[in-house]
Order: sequence, then C-alpha cells, then structure tokens
Amino acid sequence: MEKHMTVCPYCGAGCKMNLVVENGLIVDAEPLHGVTNEGNLCLKGLSGYDFVNDTKILTPRLLHPMIRRRKGAELERVTWDEALDFTAQRLSEIKEKYGPDSIMLTGSSRGPGNEANFVMQKFTRACIGTNNIDNCARTCHAPSVIGLMDTIGSGAMSVSIPGFEEASCIMLFGYNPAASHPIVARRIVKAKEKGARVIVCDPRVIETARIADIHIQMKNGSNLALLNAMAFTIIEEGLSDRAFIDAHTSGYEAWLEVIQQYPPEAVEDVVGVKAEIIREAARMYATAESSIIGWGMGVTQQRQGVHTVHAIASLACIAGKIGKPHCGVAPVRGQNNVQGSCDMGMLPNLYPGYQKVEDAKVRAKFAKAWGLPAEKLSNKEGFKLTDLPHGVRDGSIKAFYNFGEDPLQTEPDSADMEKTLKNLEFFISQDIFMTQTTALADVVLPATSWGEHEGVFTASDRSFQRFTAAVPPKGECKHDWEIFQEISTRMGYPMRYRNTKEIWDEVRELCPQFYGATYERMEGLGYAQWPIPDIEGEGTPDLYLDGSFNTFDGRALLLSHHWSAPTEEPDEGYPLVLCTVREVGHYSCRSMTGNCKALAQLADEPGYVHINPIDARKRDIRDEELVWVYSRRGKVITRAALDERVNPGAVYMTYQWWVGKCNDLTMHVTDPLSGTPEDKYSSCDVASIGDQ
Ligand code: SF4
Repeated sequence: MEKHMTVCPYCGAGCKMNLVVENGLIVDAEPLHGVTNEGNLCLKGLSGYDFVNDTKILTPRLLHPMIRRRKGAELERVTWDEALDFTAQRLSEIKEKYGPDSIMLTGSSRGPGNEANFVMQKFTRACIGTNNIDNCARTCHAPSVIGLMDTIGSGAMSVSIPGFEEASCIMLFGYNPAASHPIVARRIVKAKEKGARVIVCDPRVIETARIADIHIQMKNGSNLALLNAMAFTIIEEGLSDRAFIDAHTSGYEAWLEVIQQYPPEAVEDVVGVKAEIIREAARMYATAESSIIGWGMGVTQQRQGVHTVHAIASLACIAGKIGKPHCGVAPVRGQNNVQGSCDMGMLPNLYPGYQKVEDAKVRAKFAKAWGLPAEKLSNKEGFKLTDLPHGVRDGSIKAFYNFGEDPLQTEPDSADMEKTLKNLEFFISQDIFMTQTTALADVVLPATSWGEHEGVFTASDRSFQRFTAAVPPKGECKHDWEIFQEISTRMGYPMRYRNTKEIWDEVRELCPQFYGATYERMEGLGYAQWPIPDIEGEGTPDLYLDGSFNTFDGRALLLSHHWSAPTEEPDEGYPLVLCTVREVGHYSCRSMTGNCKALAQLADEPGYVHINPIDARKRDIRDEELVWVYSRRGKVITRAALDERVNPGAVYMTYQWWVGKCNDLTMHVTDPLSGTPEDKYSSCDVASIGDQ
C-alpha cells in the first residue's frame, strides 16, 4: 500500500488528504491536517476517489483519442499523432479563413490545476492570437470578481477560511455552506460555539439557518433591496464607521443618494420580511467586533449579480468591517480550482495575476516573456463563455475548444446549447469522461485525471497548495498541458515545458503577487496565500490591513444601485419560481461523483424537485411522486420532494441529473455586466405526470 498527498478535487475549501493506492488502484482517502481541514473531510472528500479507477458507473473514462472525420460521421479511434495533427490543421485553417477571434476556448476549474490552465491561456493568446478564453466562473462567481474589482480592487476573498472561526459575526447571503463547502460550514459551527452571531439571508431554511441568530427568509430575487435597506439602517441609526469612510473610501455622497430611498419599511413587500428583522440584522452586523459576509450563487446567479456584489462590498466598507483581522468579504468559490482558473488568466479581459489585457505595458511584458512582438498579443477583450450561443448564431465563433467542462449539463437552456455545439464548424473536447458535451465533439482528447497528475490548486481563500499523482495515467491519456503544447508546437508556436515546475516558475515570474509561492514552500502541507510577493514572505490571510485597497487611489469605491425585479416573474401559466441548487453528494456536472460507488448510491435519477407542501397540496402532488416540471423552455420528469424548508411559491432543483435536468428549463438571460446567467430565478410549474 502506498499513500500520496493531494488536495480534494471537489470544492474551494482545499482540504488536504492522502490517496491510498493498492495494486495500481486508489482504494481509500485519508484526511490530513491541512490548514483549512484540520484532519477532516466531508462525504465527497472521503468517498469521491474511485472515479479515477474507471468504474463505468455513469460513463466510461476516455482512454484513447478519437476524431470525427466529417460532420455526421461516427467518432473513430486514432493515434495521438493523427488526433493532434488533425486538430492543429483544422484550427490553423479556421484561424486563416476567419481570423483568430473566430476560435473560443474554455478552461477547467476542476482537476487539471493551475499549470494546465496557464498553458492553455498561453496557447490561446500567444499561438491562436485571441483573448476568447473563459472558465466556469462565468456561470458562478464572475459577478464577485467584477464587483469586488470595481469596489475594493481585488476579485477574491479578503479573509481566510480559518478566519471564519474567529469572527464575531458571520452573515451568509445566498450561500448554503453545508451543501457547498461542508468544511467551511464546520468553521461556522465552531465560530457559533465560540459565541459568534450568525445571520442567514436565504429564502429556504438551509442547514445553517437552524443555528442562526437571525434568519431573514427573504423572497427570491430581492437581494439588492435587502442590502440597501440594511445599509439605510446602518446610516440612519448612526452605526457606520465614519472615520473609516473618510479615510479609506470615495463616492459616499453618490452612494448615499440611492441608499436613502431604501428604508426597511419601504421594502417589506419586496423582501417579504418585517422591517424590524432587517434592522435587527443590520445592527447585529454593524456592531459586532469583527464581521464577515460570505456569499454564494444566491447572490451571483441573478441578473443584478454585479450590482449586489457592489452593495455587499460597500456595506462592509461603510460599517468598517473590512481591512481588519477576521473582518471582510468572502465569495466562497464553488469548484475546487475556480479561483485558480481566474488566477491563471482564463478570463477574456485579464492575463494571469489579474493583469489587464487592455494595458499596453502588461502586453509588452507577456510578449517579451513569450518571445513575441508586443503587437502580436490582442488588446481586444474576448468573448465570454455565455456569449457562445449568440456568437455561433451570428457566425462570429466557428470553433470551440472545451477543456474539462460540460456546458450541455451546466449551462442554462440546454436545447439552445445543444444547437450551439452542433452548429460549430469545429469542436474539440478534452476531458476525462465521455460527457454529453464531449459526445458531440469532432475531436476527443483523453486527459489524465486528478490522481494521475500533479500541480497547484488555489483554494477559495487565495491559498496555493500542491497536489501530486497517486497512480499512472490510464490508457493513452496525456497530461493536459502536454496536449496544449503539442498542438501549439504543430501550429507554429513551439512550447517545450518538461514538467509542471517549469510552468509554475514562469507563472511566478510573470505575476508579482504569486512570486513567493514556490514549489518548495508548498511541499507537503505547505500553504501559500497570495499576495505573497517575496520568497521569504508569509502570505496574506487578511487583505487590506494597511487600509489601502487595490484601486488606483488606494480607496474603496462605494457603489449603490436601485433594485429591479428579476427578468421572468411568475404568472398564471408559470406561477412558481424555479431556483437551481446543489446536491450535497454530487459535484458539478456529476461526471466525477456519478462514477464513485458510494456517492452514486446516495441518490439516483431522476433526482428531485423540492416543493413546499402547501404548493404540492394545491396540485394534488404526493411526496416521492413522479411529476412534470415545465417552463417556457421545455419540460422534464422528476420526483417531488415535499419539503417544509422550502418557501411557498418557489421550487428547487439541481442541474446534475441526466434525466430531469433542470437546465432544460432555465433561461439564457444574463447579468449584463458579468454575463452570468440568472439561474436562480425563472418561472415554471409542477404537475402530476397524469395531468400533462
Ligand atoms: Fe473536499 Fe470541499 Fe469536502 Fe473539503 S469540504 S472534503 S474540499 S468537498
């Protein structure tokens, strides 16, 4: 038996573990005393390793390259040389014929790691010549990145995961840590045991609401009205930190102009909660010694996602709850390396290290390092992932390179996404499983899995940690970074990395705030929280402790906006709000957890729609009964779960099932500032299968 130290691949909590290997198979996972998990793992961490062994429970591992020689033909097995030559030739032809901006790429925020993502964005920018690169943050926390950069200058958590435990007040907004990040939820429970006050703002009675001092069971889609009313209370009741506002912020007068129009009494109908409860929550947050606001996709997957993040950051600033130990803002990132994908510049407007593509000095620096004339690097912001359907429809995108994502499962309005993928002139998918997305590709490139390669992940709190390989690659699988560099070399831009360390050292050289995070520092349980500009430095658990924000003048910019109603409100035909959520035992598109024996047994197709018993009774629906859920986009069959914790007037579904997939029902409407879909709010109805 051998043991190999790694980092859990299932969420941004970054839990350290050992993989136990026997006869070439991973047979167990053991928790280690990592900085965030302290010897604990949740269900997914403990039971989510055997997909690497190719269990074929849901879908088989990809073991050989395949190509489709013409549209409509079957995928056929080929050699690596043939697959790579074919890919390089077709991409070169499309670049030549339509220009570099006709090609779009998306990176993986899951198992591959930062080195693979860095090489992919380099291939995109230096070889293809476009900034059309994005990652799944577009579907989740892009509004957090944009909203925080606009206000405080850095699009990441300003606190650390262990810091949750030390805060005296924790406000959770549209965030269910027990389902998304159980190890973060554990920190919140421990904080509560030490005397912290907990405020939960969520339409459902989520697990953390049970230990909350105040649960604001708000109406779906009312986030911004609630935050504005809390800010109003803090100002009106003299609870703001005037000295902090004067010394460290700008834009106060303009911010206040909007906020003054939101007394809690005026938004009771919108929020669905008595004004006094809103006031009480505002007092609790503002008067605590240290307060953290943690949020999830309940904030970001809304049409006003960026505006809501502006409101959160501004609330923290006016209350003086940022820039002090265990005080700050915490967008808790979902996928294990989605922070890393953003760190590595898998974004259409940013190079690695959050350096702007529009900045000529930044382009000159990267061009020099990559052996190119500066004018070779595009200064044009690229397409976002959610632009793909529109870009294919209007003919501006001809080729799409999908790296480790499953947009047909995870993006809204699946029928539209399927049409999009089928209408591409050329479609490459590089993955570890034959997902529904990959089955439509013209080229299928089998990559090594987590457990078969090494690298660096970034946890949600900006901490870099190394992970290692436990078993050799299956079949003919290649490392992701090797695949990109082989295609790039064939397309005339040679890359010759020999290992991930060489790639990581290039990242460090090009990104000053990552420079001190060497492989040596991250050996074993090593943990390096950026910014870490010096080799001797300690890293930075809490940002802005010197009172200086990452903005051009060092001051936080206060921003406020009026609340507006969500796009598709319930009506007579579709009287219920449909909100997408997560299944605690499954992860993302389920290709990994669905192939883990223990996790696959927890729940099976076709999943559930969670509905309040009042709404179920009106429709004569019983618990566990098969039902139709239908919207303007389509209808799916699933099981009803009668659930008192769900608010009347809304239903909740996960997007992880192949049968009963809620993204057949969601709509492709996005926040105009971030391009993030409004997955938390569309309208639908539910009926017994005999009634439709
Ligand atoms: Fe893995 Fe997240 Fe669970 Fe930790 S909390 S074991 S990182 S899924």
